[in-house]
This record gives sequence, structure tokens and C-alpha cells, in this order.
Amino acid sequence: MDKKIVDELARAVGRENIIMDEASMKIFEYGAVDSHKGTPDLIIHVTEREQVSKILKIAYNYSIPVVTRGSGSSVTGAVAPTKGGIVLDLRGLDKIKVNIDDGIVEAEVGATVLDVDNECKKYGFFFPPDPASARVATIGGALAENAGGMRGARYGVMRDWVLKIEVVLSDGTVTYFGESTYKNRAGYDLLGLIVGSEGTLAIITKAWLKIMPLPEKIVRIAGFFNTLDDAGEAIFRIRREGINPLILEFADKEGVEAANKVKGFSYPELPGGMVLVDVDGPKNGVDSIADRVIKIMQETHAAQIIRPETPSEMERIMDVRRVAFTAPGRLYPGFIDGDIAVPLSRIKEALIGVDKIRKKYNVFIATVGHAGDGNLHPNIGADPNNKEEWERAEKAAEEINLLAIELGGTVSAEHGIGKLKEDVLIKQFQVRGQMPMYKLMKEIKKIFDPKNILNPDKYALG
Ligand SMILES: Cc1cc2nc3c(=O)[nH]c(=O)nc-3n(C[C@H](O)[C@H](O)[C@H](O)COP(=O)(O)OP(=O)(O)OC[C@H]3O[C@@H](n4cnc5c(N)ncnc54)[C@H](O)[C@@H]3O)c2cc1C
Repeated sequence: MDKKIVDELARAVGRENIIMDEASMKIFEYGAVDSHKGTPDLIIHVTEREQVSKILKIAYNYSIPVVTRGSGSSVTGAVAPTKGGIVLDLRGLDKIKVNIDDGIVEAEVGATVLDVDNECKKYGFFFPPDPASARVATIGGALAENAGGMRGARYGVMRDWVLKIEVVLSDGTVTYFGESTYKNRAGYDLLGLIVGSEGTLAIITKAWLKIMPLPEKIVRIAGFFNTLDDAGEAIFRIRREGINPLILEFADKEGVEAANKVKGFSYPELPGGMVLVDVDGPKNGVDSIADRVIKIMQETHAAQIIRPETPSEMERIMDVRRVAFTAPGRLYPGFIDGDIAVPLSRIKEALIGVDKIRKKYNVFIATVGHAGDGNLHPNIGADPNNKEEWERAEKAAEEINLLAIELGGTVSAEHGIGKLKEDVLIKQFQVRGQMPMYKLMKEIKKIFDPKNILNPDKYALG
């Protein structure tokens, strides 16, 4: 990058916040998965919100790409600076203020989702969206990806919990979308448009989020199944029979095996995997709901049902689900993220369909997921240096996405598009007659970002 521009940036944000040495920049070449990479010209560690506007004014003036970054836990290549330019590290913006009277938490975007949740807990409240990456995922990254998580079965995704955002537009203008009220009909829903836009339309610097009172009691139940058919039936019936679980998660045999290996656990490694359920409510009402879940698991032939009683036992069984997600990355050098969602009634077909694809291509797939909202992560592990193995893995990934489309589902439930899902996104739009919507998306991108400097080369937007 031209020295004149670097000097101008240094005057705006302080030279100490600009990183240009090669070793430090390496860390910012990709996110959680390295299959998509790019080399930035420089990194800026932002320490005050006002700096974002100053940086964008300069970037706009010289048409420099800007990739906004939280913790870089994206699994789709969304933070790879494939066109070079500036990587804006927003983790320094981490102030959190809970406002119990209004039922709101105000958070700067670098605060992690877990920090926000923990801050709310001090007041007897919590922040419902809980991506499994909550320890690192920032509020900005979670909003930009419209992240979901374990509690999505009950509480949905980030978009359901955000009331208002402070944004910086591509030319450096600061403005606000939404209001810090629980209801607001003033204007088009531009707030909803920014959520899930993966840093391609505007940079979010602060958010006003809704919070909920903590449940009095949570009961956790894990069922282990001999067949995917039975596990799928249990998941379907729990929802169909009117139980509204706090979480309804799944981890397949490969995922459970990996967790046992990594953590030294000995949970049952059965072909139908594990269905993990949390139910919550008032102290004296939860047990009867838990009994209904256990009855459904018995009726769907669970081989073993565990109801952990202590917080540490509960945590251990939750770890199975957490580790299962990362299993392919722990066991293989290469990882391909799967993030499909299907209608609730088709979850069983999705589980069985993925298993068939696994066998057809003879690849390692650990399928975990937020099954309660129809979302599965069939994650693939393979060696990118083994050309033949990697090709099989890519073919399996593509077929899984096509299966989701065929079942009336989507290729991206919560992890977004980034670079990884660009082709299958277009495929989905074509099959569903949504190409006119895609055209509108491209027009919207031009309005928000006429110079194409905000996270360019992503989201199939060029
Ligand atoms: C082990 C593991 C488990 C995961 N589990 C889940 C899960 O359960 N649910 C789920 O939904 N996701 C999950 N993810 C994916 C990922 O963690 C989430 O998408 C997370 O919300 C990203 O947050 P981040 O701060 O790391 O964002 P980053 O990866 O840094 O950025 C993600 C995207 O957001 C943009 N962005 C970041 N900050 C801003 C901002 N302030 N303004 C505008 N754009 C911005 C970036 O440009 C990029 O496009 C998981 C990932 C891993 C590695």
C-alpha cells in the first residue's frame, strides 16, 4: 500500500494500531478454516468506535478493500482478505452495559457472545443466541453472520434478538438502524438487511440486544440410538408432540467417537448417535416435561438414556456435542463445513441421506447439529494434499448441499456464504426461482457499497 495512505491512516488511528509485519499478518490471512486465504496490506486494531469512520473515509477515497473481522471463527472463508487491503480487527471494542429496566444489553461489537451472556447473568438474565463458538465469537461477527446456536430450537438466531445497531457506511458515514424499543415500524427493515450481510454492506460498531430472565431450572437428557431412523424419529416427535425444548441437538457416531477419544470419555458409540435435549422452566414443572422427553426416547428405542444430575456431568455431556463439531478438523488436516437446514419433518431423511453420501464417497463426515431447528452440520475431514481424497470430499460436500435443496431446505442455516458456499447459493436460488431476488441483492450491494470495498469477492457478489 502506498506510504502516503499508510501515513494518513496512522494520523487517523495512531501508528501503534497499524500492523504491517509479515509474521503478524499471517494470522489474518484466513479464519477458522484455511481453504480460502488472502494476504492483507495491513491490519488495524481498532480501539475506539470513532476510528472506524475515519478509516472508511480514507479507504473510500482510495478505493481500498476493507475486511471487517471479529475473532475470525468463520468457517466459510468470509474473513479471508482475498483482494488484499485493510483487515479491521474490532476486538478492542468490547464495552457492555446491561439495562435491566428496558430489558436490553448494549454491546460494542468486539465483545464476545459469552461475555455478553455472562454480564447479563449477573442480573439474573441471559442473552439467548449461543453459537457453540460463543467463547470467541464477537457480537459483530455473530450479527454479520446471523449466527444461531444450541438454543436456536427455542430462541432462533441473532436477528430475533437485535433491536438497533450503530453502523458505519462505506464512505465513513455513521448512522443507526432500528430503535432500542421492543417494537418499531419506522422505515424499511434495514437492520434486518445488515444482519447476515457478512460485512459486505456496512460495518456494525454497536448493538442494542434483547435479553431474557434466566430459567429457574434446566434438565438435560441424552439418548443414544442404534439407528439414524430412530434418532431422527425421536427428534421429530419431541417437537411434533408440542414440547418446546431449550436445546435439541444431535451428534452422530463419528462425532461421539471423536469426543470420547479427545476427552477420554466413554459414551456409547452407536450407529444412531446421540440426541441431546435441555428442557427448562419453573422448578416444580420441569420434571414432568423431562419425563415426556424420556418417554419419547424410550418409544423410539433409545438404547441408553442418560439424565446427568450434577453441573459437571451436564457440562461433560455437552462437551460431546461441542467436540463432535470440530472432530474432522482434529482428525484431518482439511475441514469442509456443512451447514444445511431442512424442514422439521425431513430431518430423518437428511440424516439418512448424509450417511449414504458418506458411504458413497468413503469420506470422514461427522454430522452434528441443532436438529431441533432442522439444522445439521455434516462436517467433512480430509487431506487437501491428497488430491484424490480431497476431490471425494468436495464431491460429498456438494452432494450434501444438493440433498438439502432437494429436501426443501437451504445450503446455509447459520454459518453464511463467504467463499465456500457461493456456487451452491446460486444453485439454490435457481432451483427456487429466486434469481430475481439475487439481482436485487446485487443492486442493494451497489447502493450500500458503490466502490465495492466492503469485504469484496464474497457472498457471490463479486
Ligand atoms: C468450533 C466452532 C463452532 C461454531 N459454532 C457455531 C454455532 O453453533 N452457530 C453459528 O451460527 N456459528 C458457529 N460457528 C461459526 C462462527 O463462529 C460464527 O459465525 C461467529 O458468529 C463468527 O463470529 P466472529 O467474531 O468470529 O466473526 P468473524 O469470523 O471474524 O467474521 C465473520 C463475518 O462477519 C463479518 N464481520 C465481523 N464483524 C463485523 C462487524 N462488526 N460489522 C460487519 N461485519 C462484521 C466479517 O467480515 C465476516 O464476513 C462456529 C465456528 C467454530 C469454529
